Amino acid sequence: MSGGRVGAAVRQTEIPMLRAYRLWFEHTRKCSHCKGMRKAQDGCTDGRELWGAYRLARIGGTS
Ligand SMILES: [Zn+2]
Repeated sequence: MSGGRVGAAVRQTEIPMLRAYRLWFEHTRKCSHCKGMRKAQDGCTDGRELWGAYRLARIGGTS
């Protein structure tokens, strides 16, 4: 039994807010600039855009 299929199924139902957060989080792990930042607002341009998308998704997801 592999847990990979379970992860794929979860990803399909992932809500936009969590998806946006995951994109930002993955960026902070790959980006040498954002990696050392304690606040998302101090990240690079890409990092701040991803964080902004997450905040928008969080606001829009409360409907
Ligand atoms: Zn970055």
